[in-house]
Amino acid sequence: MTNHFELGAMIEGIKRWVETESPTQSKAAVNRMIDLVQSDVAGLPVKVERVPGKSGFADNLIVRNHAAGEGRGILILSHIDTVHPIGTLAGPLPFRRDGDKLYGPGLFDMKGGAYLALEAFRQVAQAKSAKLPVTFVFTPDEEVGSPTSRALIETEAKKSRYVLVTEPARDGGKIVTSRKGVGRFEVKTIGVPAHSGARHQDGRSAIKEMARQVLAIEGLTDYARGVTTTVGMISGGTAPNVIPQHCHISVDLRVREVAAGEEFEAKILALEPFDQGVKVEVTGGMNRPPFEMSTAIDVLFRHAQAVARDIGFDLQHTEMTGGGSDGNFTAALGVPTLDGLGIDGDGAHTEWEHGLISSIEPRTRLMRGLLESLQ
Ligand SMILES: [Zn+2]
Repeated sequence: MTNHFELGAMIEGIKRWVETESPTQSKAAVNRMIDLVQSDVAGLPVKVERVPGKSGFADNLIVRNHAAGEGRGILILSHIDTVHPIGTLAGPLPFRRDGDKLYGPGLFDMKGGAYLALEAFRQVAQAKSAKLPVTFVFTPDEEVGSPTSRALIETEAKKSRYVLVTEPARDGGKIVTSRKGVGRFEVKTIGVPAHSGARHQDGRSAIKEMARQVLAIEGLTDYARGVTTTVGMISGGTAPNVIPQHCHISVDLRVREVAAGEEFEAKILALEPFDQGVKVEVTGGMNRPPFEMSTAIDVLFRHAQAVARDIGFDLQHTEMTGGGSDGNFTAALGVPTLDGLGIDGDGAHTEWEHGLISSIEPRTRLMRGLLESLQ
């Protein structure tokens, strides 16, 4: 790689992307972001395929560099949706620079990383320097569990030898080689409504039943096994003087291994009412399978470490992280996957979300080095 690195232009590019707000739920906004990516790859010797969105989500964009021929190659995955609603930029989190930190909605998770990976992809496409075909997929719905992009990601992964995911780095630039699996469940209790004064004894409270279910679900948490359960949302009832008929919770499950996912999914789906007068309905299941470190992932990680050493930095990986990503899908298919290759920083999903300027150049060079050396 040449020593010429246009950091200023990179920061400008990241700014353009961050200033194009793209919350998952806003199809039009996410499509504007896909438009921007598409215009940024115009003129490159690549094949661009825009896959129309489904179920109210925006489009996927597939960019293929086949200069090295056909066959199994490298898949890069970036999601360009964010959790931040429109107006975050004009409100609590404007794009700004403060010392080494660049702030903005989605800057860390993951527009900074997606942008630097695209820069590496662009350089490699122009230099025709990849040894394998490289496919870059930009997706619109990762922050809600990738309901409409999962099939496409899995189809592309099955055609690939390696997968590189540009989720944020952490703890001083560490990358990710394993992630917990994630399950999502909705639990409803349906009781019998009654006047809380005149007919208290006839009522069967959906909230009272749910209170016991919440404790039962939270009680499944087992830190020693790396299993956590969280009741993150609750709603129910209609008025203070009505025995509530309905209550609803959302449950998040995290596990380290596939077997634990099956075991705890079965436990949650089998929840029984404590009060026989109240019905309990549970839907959901494992969404992202665990991303477990395999021998092939270890080999790929050591290769990345050697690439980083040549660039001049020490690359490490994190302990298994609790957060899921699209890397969970590809690792579960047995395709060696490295994740956390994006920008370093902190504060994902918060109003102090930021990336570190000092991480842009080394990580762009790492991505380019991987694209040029993997075979
Ligand atoms: Zn992300």
